[in-house]
This record gives sequence, structure tokens and C-alpha cells, in this order.
Amino acid sequence: MSGDVETTLRGPEAYNVARKALELMESHHVWPTPLNYELWSHYVADPEGALAIELGRLISLGEPLTENVSEDLAAAFLAKARLNEQIRDAGDQLSKELDSVSKAIQSAQKSNVAYGETLAGASKGLSNAEDVGQVKAMVDSLSAATRRVQKENKSLEKRLAESTSEVQRLREHLEQVRRDATTDGLTNLANRRAFDDELMRACADADANGMPLTLAVLDIDHFKSFNDTWGHQTGDQVIRYVASVIGRLGATPRFSARYGGEEFAMIFPGEDAALVETCLQEIREEVASRMLKRRSTNEDLGTVTISAGLATRREGETGNCVLERADEALYTSKRSGRNRVTNGEKLPAAA
Ligand code: GH3
Ligand code: MG
Ligand code: MG
Repeated sequence: MSGDVETTLRGPEAYNVARKALELMESHHVWPTPLNYELWSHYVADPEGALAIELGRLISLGEPLTENVSEDLAAAFLAKARLNEQIRDAGDQLSKELDSVSKAIQSAQKSNVAYGETLAGASKGLSNAEDVGQVKAMVDSLSAATRRVQKENKSLEKRLAESTSEVQRLREHLEQVRRDATTDGLTNLANRRAFDDELMRACADADANGMPLTLAVLDIDHFKSFNDTWGHQTGDQVIRYVASVIGRLGATPRFSARYGGEEFAMIFPGEDAALVETCLQEIREEVASRMLKRRSTNEDLGTVTISAGLATRREGETGNCVLERADEALYTSKRSGRNRVTNGEKLPAAA
């Protein structure tokens, strides 16, 4: 993906980058958190990169560079770089683990061979034995060798059991890493990156099984003024609330994601535009019908509404084309008064 940052700078130049990043953070009133430092050092080190361009755009818009903005940037631009690093670490641990197990097996093999030789020698020795003393010495050495091999096998067993649980732990860790990289931290919905991946998969599936595929884009209405009135933190809680409604009605086999700040996207495999329109109306009505209240102060926040647009995939169309048409339908909803759903399949085709 072109938007991902993957390079790391080492050497004396890295200190200049670090200093510059700190200076910029200070002049833009950004706290020097580890995440911000990571973002801003990429900004300095790769000014032509997608991350720097997006950050530059936000600065020029005068957007406050809040923690959420940083999280979004990290999810969009740093997620893959981090994922790769963590997968590499887990891979290193896994190969160390396998290395040590294979050594343990080799050493067990060696002692088994030695044991075999001891037995062969004993068998020869027994047939030549001339008195009870010789036989007894032979039996003693045999049972000592047997004990050695038993001990060796026990420790191999223990080592294998440990290794199995270590591999299990690594597998869970990788699963966690994968989940973190594909989930939006605020809402627990899928993030944009996961949505893009899923969209590609869903289009391939639709081609393979000849089923329809419909996409929807949803956006909270007048959210800027909500934030201006009630503050960003409360705004975040509203985003979570809207996401919970979307997630509930858009559960598997549907797929729901937070696509951007206050914007969501949904995939409806196997559903035509009419079915999806019904579902979106349900979401819209549910959101609009709730009076919101700030828990800490009991203040009435009024209601928020959402607008939505949908489009059904035409044969061979790329996911992004469908998404664009759903976005046009959303725009129609906004233009015609908000708090509504527009079925893009009913719009006159664009010239
Ligand atoms: P419209 O009805 O046309 O969608 O109006 P709007 O104000 O929602 O649209 P606009 O795109 O102009 O502004 C979106 C606003 O959403 C800007 C920003 O204040 C807010 N926003 C974006 N992301 C977040 C976020 O993560 N948390 C909070 N609290 N607000 C956000
Ligand atoms: Mg909006
Ligand atoms: Mg928006």
C-alpha cells in the first residue's frame, strides 16, 4: 500500500531529524508523546511521503492535532510498518524456539544411538560371560544406561511440552497484533485499512459466486458544530455511540468500519440495494431517535443525525468505483437536507 511508511533512519542524520521533529511538535503545540514523536519524525524524514502530505494538509487547515487525529494518522500510515516489525519479532522468537527444540531432539537421538551400542555390546558380552560377577557388572551398566536414556527422554518430553505452549503463546500474540492493526481504537469497528482489504476480498467473492454486493457510506451530520458546542471528547463518545448502532446492524456477514473521523463504511455481501436501503433506514432512525445525554453532568446534548448513501456493484466494477458511487449518493443526502438515505441505484446515471 502506497500510504505506508516503512523506512527507519539510522546514523548521525537521525539526531537532526529527532531535533527537528521535537521543534515542530513544540511550535504546533503537539505533546511529545511517543506516538506523536513517531509521526513527526516521519514527517521530517520523508517530507514527500503520504504521511507528511496528510499532516501538512491538516496543519494548513488549522485542524487541532488531537490525540485522535494522531491515532487516525497512525492507523492509516504506521499500522503496516508496525505490524511488519511485530511479525518479524514473533518470527524471530519462533525460529529460536524451533532451533532449541531441534537441538534437544538431536541430543536425544545421539543418546539413543549410544544406548543401542551399549545394548549390542552387552549382548556380545553376555554370551561370552564366564561368571556371575561379570553378568552382574554387565546388568548394572545396562540399567545405568537405561536410566540415562529414560532421563533424557523425560527432559525431551518436558522441553516439547514447553515449546508447544510457547508456540501457542506466540500464535495468540500474533492474533492480537493482527487484531490491533485492523481495529479502530475508539469504536472497535474495523479500521479503514481492514475495510479496504475486506472490500477487495468481497469483490472477488461476488465475482466467484455471482452474488450482488452493495456498499454504504454513512456520515454524522453537522458534526463540526456538535464538537464546537460540546467539545471533542463528547464528540468522540457520540462517534462511539453511532458506531455501536452500525456495528450491531452491520454484524457478520455484513462488514462495518470506521472509515474516517465521523464517517463509516459498510459492505453488504449478497444483498441488493433495496435490502441495504432498509437496513440503512433502520440505522438512521435508531440514531435520530435517541436523546443524548452527557453522563457526567446530565446535560442534554439533543440528538445527532446521520446521512447515508449506497450503491450496488456492477459486474466487473472495482470496489473503489462502487464506493465512489455510494459517496455520491451520500453527498446527495447531504445536499437534500441530511438525516436521510440515498439509494444510488435510483439516481440518474452521471454523464
Ligand atoms: P456534514 O453534515 O456536511 O457532514 O457536516 P460536518 O460538520 O459533519 O462535516 P465536516 O466534514 O465539515 O466536519 C467533520 C467534523 O467532524 C470535523 C471534526 O470536527 C469532526 N471530527 C472528525 N473526526 C473526529 C473525531 O475523531 N472525533 C471528534 N470528536 N470529532 C471529529
Ligand atoms: Mg459529517
Ligand atoms: Mg465527514
